Parts: sequence; C-alpha cells; structure tokens
Amino acid sequence: MRTTSGWQATGSPATLRRAALERRELRPDDVAVRIDYCGVCHTDLHALRDHDDAAGRPLVPGHEFTGVVTETGTAVTGLSRGDRVAVGNIVDACGECPMCLAGQENFCHAFPTLTYGGTDRHDGSTTLGGYSREYVVRDRFAHPLPSGLDPAAAAPLLCAGVTVWEPLHALGVGPGSRVGVAGLGGLGHLAVKMAVALGATTSVISRSPDKADDARRLGAHGLIVSTDPEAMAGARDGFDVVIDTISAPHDLGPYLRLVALDGTLSHLGHLGPVTVETLDLLIGRKKLSSAGSGGCPATAAMLDFCAANGITADIELLPSERVNEALDRLRRGDVRYRFVLDMSDLR
Ligand SMILES: [Zn+2]
Ligand SMILES: [Zn+2]
Repeated sequence: MRTTSGWQATGSPATLRRAALERRELRPDDVAVRIDYCGVCHTDLHALRDHDDAAGRPLVPGHEFTGVVTETGTAVTGLSRGDRVAVGNIVDACGECPMCLAGQENFCHAFPTLTYGGTDRHDGSTTLGGYSREYVVRDRFAHPLPSGLDPAAAAPLLCAGVTVWEPLHALGVGPGSRVGVAGLGGLGHLAVKMAVALGATTSVISRSPDKADDARRLGAHGLIVSTDPEAMAGARDGFDVVIDTISAPHDLGPYLRLVALDGTLSHLGHLGPVTVETLDLLIGRKKLSSAGSGGCPATAAMLDFCAANGITADIELLPSERVNEALDRLRRGDVRYRFVLDMSDLR
C-alpha cells in the first residue's frame, strides 16, 4: 500500500477530518495522480448525511478532480508521467456489457465502480474519493485534460459538466435549437454555457427574478420566472429541449408544458418515483427523459468541446482545509456556482 492524506468523514453528523489514507499499489493498467483540485458536488453532501461510522465503510468524498500523473503501471501506454488528467465520478466498469460496449460505462449493467463509496472490482475495497492528495485509477478513467483549460475551474466539468453535456449532445442540441435550463446551480450554469456554445437560443427558468443578471452574464438569452404563471404560460411549447437540474422533489408538469411539439424534458439526477399527468405528454407528443454522469467517449468529447469554446465552471477556490465550510455553504445554497478545493495544502 502507498499512503497519502485526505479529508475523511467521522462522527454523526459527519464532519471531515484530515487523515492518512491508503492507496493501492499500481496495477499494470493503473496510473497514480497527484490531485491538485477537486470540486465539491451535491452528492458529497448526501454521502456525508448518510454516512454511518458504525457501518465500517470509510468515506472520503470528491469525484470531480484534476491533477498530474506521477507514476504509470507497466501496461499503460496512453499516459505518461507529467500528463494533466481529470477524473470524474466513475473509475471502472465491466467493459463487456452492451452499455460499456456502447461507450456508456456510466450505465454499466454490472454497475460502474464509483470514485468514492464504491467497491473496487478486483480487491473488494471501498473506494476513497478526491478530497485527497493522491488517487490511483485505471488508466482509461483518467481523462487527458486539454491544455488551455484551467485545472481548477475545469474540475467541475468531470461531474456537473458531463452530466449536462450527455443529454444536450444526445438530444441533438445545436444551432437553431431552443433550450430551457431549469435551475441555475452547479449543473445549470454549465448547461447554459454549453447550450449557448452549441448555438442554441437558451433561456434560464428560475424561481427568482434576481438570477436574471447572472443568466445574461452566462450567455443566456432570457429568463423565465417559474413562480410567475403568466410568464410560464407565455413560454408554453417554447423549447425543443428543457434540461431540468432541480434536485429537490418537484412537479414536472409545469416544465413539460414548456416543451415544444416532439420536444424533450430531460431531468438530471435521481428524483425517485414521480407522478406525471400523461396528458402533459400526449398534448404535443412530448418526451420525458433522464440522464446522469457520462461515459468515457462523452467525457473526452465534452473536454475537447469545453477547451475549444473556453468553457469552465464559475468557481470559488478554497484551500482544502476549509472543506467543512465549503460544505456548509453549499448546503445553504451559498455558492456561485461551484466550490473547488485546492489540495496543495495536503503535503
Ligand atoms: Zn457529482
Ligand atoms: Zn459494463
């Protein structure tokens, strides 16, 4: 085993404390990555909320990070020491099922290995995430980070970014598309930037009108206030694609009514069981869809697209020792739009 340091959950409710962590010795197809920057995702909050010391599974959150390859396994050919790489929320998959063969490792039938809180496919250990100075990862899940992308602001592309990229891409968003983005947080602000760069006429759908300036600054062409019935009625059938990034339980009906004939509402993440009035689908032959995370080919394509279009997340960078403060503020929604931890204080 090799040792590094990181931020591990202890107690209930869990707080993160600095701890020595073990990483596996490199397998032939592994690389060791010195983590420089790691984004703080809503999933990290949920994992901490659900963490139970007594269950005996250690928790180190963090699943969107960038860094530099420091060592390569004997069979690694595509990466070398010194290469800049980025790692997202999955670090392995079976490689043989129809989803893996389609390049959608995120939907692997045998379940992808999660970057933290997952179970390693070879040794059965619990994976420890990117709130840490080093990670050992299978080479094909360490994605080359294009030059030109700031490594701190690019870190959130690996979870938030690819999660909005896959549906935008799969739904054929391009020049002339009309796209609505519901919710302007970590995911939503990247969805706006990407949709605009793809050539779509893009609007933000938000509960509050005070996001209008931000929406415009991000490149959006308009803002619809979802609590204003007249505004929502005026936007009826107005979007080919609505990307719904709202994570709290909510009625999908008002958002389906914004979708145009044969258009799609794509809700991202896990809402659990929801009730849909099928008339909201019938009228206009509308489609309801979902997505989450990304496969290896989409991740590479997304990074190339972001590099070509100068897209990174709007971030607030904090030293990693302030991780608990970042989590507290994220819990209160007090961030525009993503915290990123600078890991250089973990020597
Ligand atoms: Zn995430
Ligand atoms: Zn698979």
